[in-house]
Amino acid sequence: MTLIDGKAYSDTIKTNLKKQCDDLKKQGITPGLAVVLVGKDEASKTYVSMKDRACELVGIHSKRINLDENTSQQELLDLVKTLNKDNSIHGILVQLPLPKHLNTDEVLEAIDPKKDVDGFHAINVGKLSQNKDGLVACTPLGVMNLLDEYGINVTGLNACVIGASNIVGKPMANLLLNRRATVSVTHSKTKDLAFFTKNADLIVVGVGKPNLLTEDMVKDGAIVIDVGINRLENGKLVGDVDFENVAPKCSFITPVPGGVGPMTIATLLQNTIKSAKG
Ligand code: NAP
Repeated sequence: MTLIDGKAYSDTIKTNLKKQCDDLKKQGITPGLAVVLVGKDEASKTYVSMKDRACELVGIHSKRINLDENTSQQELLDLVKTLNKDNSIHGILVQLPLPKHLNTDEVLEAIDPKKDVDGFHAINVGKLSQNKDGLVACTPLGVMNLLDEYGINVTGLNACVIGASNIVGKPMANLLLNRRATVSVTHSKTKDLAFFTKNADLIVVGVGKPNLLTEDMVKDGAIVIDVGINRLENGKLVGDVDFENVAPKCSFITPVPGGVGPMTIATLLQNTIKSAKG
């Protein structure tokens, strides 16, 4: 069994991105990322700070914009329009979840697709589904980067994606399909999850339920990628996989923490540099 080290590979990516960033600066371009945080959600604040630090490390100019919890839809849309026009900003990220009174879809659709470094805009989602070049959601693209780094060729593999959100499961399924894996996408209404997982050479799980994937659901030699992040009552951070019992059956597996998580931020930086290159 090989443990996939997302932390180490994300550090390598960041070192490489720093060089690309330095080259861009020599051409007079400083890549800029605007991160918009509305309200005081503690987890969001932590994620935004991690993104700030990562930008600083590779030399991306990070413009942090904190808005009051009661910001109106129009104020947020106006800010996005201003950032769309700002030539010093190449990537715009609106930290989710937004407070409940705001319309998330409308805000995400207002972002210029060329600056949509989260890859959530319908134009970028459409490009992904047609296998055209665009900006792709950071977490699933980070998973593909990890698979590539470990020499895992997904073409022809039976892949099972557990979870079908717009952020994780659906773009993950499209990325795998574009590489010609045979993909099953499962969700909360799937009748017999184990039927799909037992037949899978590759399982990517992103649901948010500890121990959802157990030993009896995984075939010998499977590749298991755990996107889930769950904080247990005792404070421990775990994924969606019963790691201790599943890992011995796997050919490759990602840990939580230290697997997919660090790749998400590295991929966000990658997307920002891609946008800055135009
Ligand atoms: P989400 O929007 O709540 O989506 C969860 C998905 O799981 C939904 O499609 C849901 O089905 C499906 N689901 C729920 N119960 C299920 C079950 N018993 N069997 C199969 N599928 C089931 O969550 P998300 O934003 O995609 O995030 C998922 C997890 O990934 C969370 O733990 C989150 O913290 C983590 N995450 C990690 C990173 C990272 O960087 N590592 C990034 C993003 C998210 P329905 O569609 O039918 O409701």
